[in-house]
Amino acid sequence: MRRSLIVAALTALLLAAGAQTASAASRTWRPCSKAATKAAAERAGLPARMDADARLRSIFGDDAPSSQLTSIGRSLCADFDGDGDLDRLALYRCCTVSSPAPFAILRKKGASYAIAYSRLNDAVITIRTAGRDLVEREPKFARTDANCCPSRVRERRIHWTGTGFATRVRIRAAPAGARTIAAPAAAASAARPAIIAKPIPFPARRKREMAAYARRHYGIDSHRLRRPRVIVEHYTVNDSVQATFNTFAPDVADPELRELPGVCAHFVVARDGRIFQFVALSLMCRHTVGLNHTSVGIEHVGRSDGDVIGNARQLRASLRLTTWLRCRYEIGTGNVIGHSESLSSPYHRERVARLRMQTHGDLKKASMDVYRRKLRARPCS
Ligand SMILES: [Zn+2]
Repeated sequence: MRRSLIVAALTALLLAAGAQTASAASRTWRPCSKAATKAAAERAGLPARMDADARLRSIFGDDAPSSQLTSIGRSLCADFDGDGDLDRLALYRCCTVSSPAPFAILRKKGASYAIAYSRLNDAVITIRTAGRDLVEREPKFARTDANCCPSRVRERRIHWTGTGFATRVRIRAAPAGARTIAAPAAAASAARPAIIAKPIPFPARRKREMAAYARRHYGIDSHRLRRPRVIVEHYTVNDSVQATFNTFAPDVADPELRELPGVCAHFVVARDGRIFQFVALSLMCRHTVGLNHTSVGIEHVGRSDGDVIGNARQLRASLRLTTWLRCRYEIGTGNVIGHSESLSSPYHRERVARLRMQTHGDLKKASMDVYRRKLRARPCS
């Protein structure tokens, strides 16, 4: 008798505790085990759903999306539908800030999970909880925003209605602390030096290849260079503007990385100080692995750092060009770098693992320190 009473009391206690977990933990979203959420996502077939998604496939190229999207960046749990089972939200992360970060709400039914809501292509910045709702944020680029830094965010509030998920979208200013920059100010300027137009062919095919390159390497679905944040200085390892033009003009895979489109730079400064422009500033150009999405490339005809730094006419023209560009785009002198400094740039991004440490030896830090000191003597007005 006594024993059965104790058992009954214990059972009642356990049931109460269980019920409490189900009702209190339940409706409100809270962080929970990433490993358990990953297992639930796999049981619900989310990796296969990613692999079947045409847009994710086009972004990841030869790699299956699920082979790149393997880690859970955020895991939240709630019993959103109030049926006593703990449901889950899985947000996957990979690659760069601008890469897609698929997420799904997984509804538990018995031992299995089903995908109740998913968005597979958004470049999610955060998903925060708002009681029973979830609020997803993704970048919203204005035409004048740099590729690194959107000025606004798209906020999507996800709400369970009792029968399905309803969403409400709002566009707001990017929150303080996010890596954003103000709209271009009219104030900063410097005189534009004389520039001789000598455009290399950049037809639709090359633009398509550039966009595909930007997708593969940066997760950016565009060939456009929007508000560059970096200027990269190079030398050509040849002796003339024409030889440089001949290298950049054909749209052929480069011998080093064997990728399309062909390599290029926006400008080249000749030994006599003339400045030539090969590529429009609105186009991305392949000159520096890890920085093409947000940088202007300037070549200098020469075979060494000393050739460039030691040639007064060429150096003066280069400083004039760089000053004009950096004032126009509000780029600090610290973000005017030599190619050899690319890996230490805060803007360096590279999704392809084998290229993450790739750089070149042209224009070393010591030479660039001299260059930057001279730049600082030419402030924007
Ligand atoms: Zn270079």
